This record gives sequence, structure tokens and C-alpha cells, in this order.
Amino acid sequence: MSDTRSKADVIIVGGGIIGCSIAYRLAQEKLSVIVIERDRVGGEASGAAAGILGPQAEADSPDPFLDLCLASRSLYPSLAEELRSETGIDIEYLTDGLLYLAFTDEDEHELEARYRWQSSCGLRVERLSAREAREIEPRLSPEVRWALRFPDDHQVNNVKLTAALARGAIGRGARFLIGRPATKLVVENGRAVGVETPEERLSAAQVVNAAGSWSGQIDCSPAPQPPVSPVRGQMIAIETPQPVLRHVVYSSSCYLVPRIDGRLLIGSTMEHVGYNKKVTVEGIGGLLRGALEIIPSLNSYAFKEAWAGLRPYAPDKLPILGESQLPGLIIATAHFRNGILLTPITGQLIADLIISGKTSTPLERFSPNRFQ
Ligand SMILES: Cc1cc2nc3c(=O)[nH]c(=O)nc-3n(C[C@H](O)[C@H](O)[C@H](O)COP(=O)(O)OP(=O)(O)OC[C@H]3O[C@@H](n4cnc5c(N)ncnc54)[C@H](O)[C@@H]3O)c2cc1C
Repeated sequence: MSDTRSKADVIIVGGGIIGCSIAYRLAQEKLSVIVIERDRVGGEASGAAAGILGPQAEADSPDPFLDLCLASRSLYPSLAEELRSETGIDIEYLTDGLLYLAFTDEDEHELEARYRWQSSCGLRVERLSAREAREIEPRLSPEVRWALRFPDDHQVNNVKLTAALARGAIGRGARFLIGRPATKLVVENGRAVGVETPEERLSAAQVVNAAGSWSGQIDCSPAPQPPVSPVRGQMIAIETPQPVLRHVVYSSSCYLVPRIDGRLLIGSTMEHVGYNKKVTVEGIGGLLRGALEIIPSLNSYAFKEAWAGLRPYAPDKLPILGESQLPGLIIATAHFRNGILLTPITGQLIADLIISGKTSTPLERFSPNRFQ
């Protein structure tokens, strides 16, 4: 079977936030795009995430990865506006900033060092006394010693963002084949020329592997598989009748993310347990203890739900972005803890690579071929 419906300029495997972002940018550039999603758009890590856009909060040194994260963060204001006018979806891009709290000597050393190197690099970071921190977030525990405020680290609703990117891509002609797994890459004369699903064979000039934690399971031979494995993250949502926080708040035990709908998200564990999305007593217990250390009065609120997702992880913890050794096959995966943050820049860079063969930001550090 071969007709125009089974052909496209680009086939993207994976309808997570990364696949949707690439599809959106390519469709804007008038390329024909097919996204193949085996289950549900945004049904894996992209739906499970907390939506924190926090490149500064966790960075330990300036490096190309931080540069990539900062560049992506800077694209959010225009992306939020663009998606609102193009799709009608408000992605809840909230710009109140992020607080990182010190409770112990170890926390103090870590935050002190972060404050010093980030200030000297010209990144905005403020040192707040315990009193100043409680003035802006009155429910914080009296045990807080002091805090850093990152005024440029923000948050977004990752579920709405994924939906908006998919809707925007579809609005510009991209086709989403939902409930269809890519079973095999089609290779002819040493080049990727398409993808097989159980129903059909689809052909394209370029194929993008954006299958998240499963991207290493798609046979890319003769190129090596991307070395990606899952890292489980458990999350909790509690209901807060009135807002309890304005900022995203971190401690060394957990983070709290106040959402517009009144939920407070508490995250997240980091567990190498394979393709296992179970929520465990140990995981949830640890998160609740961490949350109560930050805001003791959370005790009285209603528990709403808990879930787990699988972060796509490469051995060096960096994303895998760029052309593989197999011509026609591009990899966009392993965004690990920062896939929501890196969504805008990934869509832009991979679209540039497909359209012009070049990217404005060098991708060598993130090359799929760095593992040989
Ligand atoms: C608990 C948790 C909290 C997080 N918090 C944050 C955060 O606050 N900020 C942040 O920046 N990042 C966060 N992340 C990380 C972020 O969620 C991920 O890096 C990002 O969602 C990865 O997106 P993706 O599209 O690559 O993967 P996914 O969302 O997992 O999407 C991959 C898609 O590919 C599909 N697929 C797989 N195999 C096939 C196949 N053979 N054929 C067709 N389809 C296939 C899957 O069904 C899936 O829909 C968090 C992650 C977790 C789990």
C-alpha cells in the first residue's frame, strides 16, 4: 500500500512534548509531518511532569547544558503568547520565580556556592534571610535558615503545553496517528526512509526518534540504539482551598509547585527501577515528609492523587539531540529532568536541522554519536 497519506517530509515517533514541539515548528515551516504515538499524546513523562522551568535552581556550574536550558527558558514568553493566539490554549506560564530553602549546614554550603558562581556569571539570584523569605511566603516553616530566590526560574502547565503544541501542529496540517506503535525503522540503501506500524508502512525523507524512555527500543541499525533508560519520578497532588504559595519552592528533599487550579504538586523521586510506573508507600511517604518540613500546615489539606512517570535518561544525564550515524534518522530524546524546560529550544533546533542542515546553537555536546 502506498498513497500520499502514508508519505510525509518528516515522520516523528513519539507524541510526547518533544515530538509535539518538533511537529509544531516543522508544520509552521510548511513541511508535511506525521506523528506516530502508540498510546496517547502526552500520556507518559510529559503528562507526569511538574512543569518547572528551573535551569538556575539545580545548576552546579556554567556549561553548554546550562546555556541550552537558559536559551530555552528565554523562548517561553513568546511561545506562550504564540500558542494562546494560535490555539486558544493558555499554557499557564507563571512568572513568580522560584525559592530554594536551606534547612541544614549542607544546604547552606550548596546554596552559598550556587549564589556565588551564578552572581559572578551575571545570572539573577537573590539571597533572602528567613524573615524575608517568610514575608513573601508566609506559610514557610520557622525552621528555614535562609533562602535563594531565582526570579527568572518559572513554571508552566506541561499538560496544557503539550496539548497546545499538538493542536497548533494539527492546525497547520500535521497528522497524528494515535494508538499506533512504530514497530520498525525502514532502511533502504543505508538511509532511514520510513517507519512501519502494525497497519502500514509510512515513508518520509527524515525520521525523528522522539520516543522518550522508549527511544532505545526502536531498532536503528546499522546505527547504534540511543542508550536511554527510564528513571521513575513519583508525584503527589493535594487540594488547597486557597493558594498556599506563589513561588515554586525547593528544598533538598522535594519541591512544591502551586497550580492555578488550586492543586499543590509535590515531587519527585528519582528511581532506577526499569519500566515500572507504580506509586510506592516509600516514595509517597518521603515526599510528604519533605513537603511538611517546608509547610507544616499542609497536614490539614486533602490528598487528591498520586502518579509516576518515566524520565528519559542517558548515562551522562544530557539530552541526545542531532543526526544519528544513519542518514535520515534524527534523535531527540533523553531530556531527563528538563524536558519541559527544553521543549521550545528542542523544537526549534531540530526543525532547523531538518530544514537547513544547520543549527544556531552547536549540538556537538549533545550528539547521538558521543557514546562510541
Ligand atoms: C515526575 C516527573 C517530573 C518532572 N518534572 C519536570 C519539570 O518540572 N520540568 C522539566 O523540565 N521536566 C520535568 N520532567 C521531565 C520531562 O517530563 C521529560 O523530560 C519530558 O516529558 C520528556 O518528553 P518526551 O516527549 O521525550 O517523552 P515522553 O513524554 O515520555 O513521550 C514519549 C512518547 O513516545 C511514545 N512512544 C514510545 N515508543 C513508541 C513507539 N514505538 N511508537 C510510537 N510511540 C512511542 C510514548 O507513548 C510517549 O507518549 C519530569 C518528569 C517526571 C517523570
